[in-house]
Amino acid sequence: MSQFFGPTIRQTGDPSVMAITFDDGPNPAVTPGLLDLLDRYNARATFFLIGAHVRAVPSLAAEIAARGHSIGNHTQTHPALTFLPSHRLDSELALCDDAIESATGKKPRWMRPPYGFRSPLLERVIRARGCQRVVTWSAMAWDWKPQPAAPVIRRLRRAHGGDIVVLHDGDHRMLGGDRHHTVAALAEWLPRWRDAGIRFVGLDELHAEPAAA
Ligand SMILES: [Zn+2]
Repeated sequence: MSQFFGPTIRQTGDPSVMAITFDDGPNPAVTPGLLDLLDRYNARATFFLIGAHVRAVPSLAAEIAARGHSIGNHTQTHPALTFLPSHRLDSELALCDDAIESATGKKPRWMRPPYGFRSPLLERVIRARGCQRVVTWSAMAWDWKPQPAAPVIRRLRRAHGGDIVVLHDGDHRMLGGDRHHTVAALAEWLPRWRDAGIRFVGLDELHAEPAAA
């Protein structure tokens, strides 16, 4: 992916460390079981939350943070940001930040644009808002539609230590979307990755130093 629009975090920089990320939640139908699965492998991850979903289930956002995971801003309503005017970009980010902060007590340090779409305007708006960093990914599993687990398991063969892996515990169109295939695929891969010596960290851990403005 191009760095043309400014610096983006898309790998962990350490082949023994994988950053698993989940987009489009929180999802009351999926996220609680997923948190238990992650705990079983002492895995920390990063959840890019949609502000509207956070407002619907703030206690679940709080639970994600309480379990030691990192949280990122995935906008208030999940629009494609490319052609939005700057005031809409700013309010999409601000409303999501506010939802996350009032649910968890902490403003997110990370932001992921819906669909991974970026633009020079987005970079400018983000910079003007403070020190949030844009995070994309280096491995994905095409798991954003309901499907059997097998193809998701197969696609995750491409994920290795050093990757930022994007998965989906939520559905941006609704609360409670079906993501059992994602959880089942992770249940398959977490022990394999662990046995290969890979550690699973959240972005707050990976970039423990305060982000420079
Ligand atoms: Zn998304």
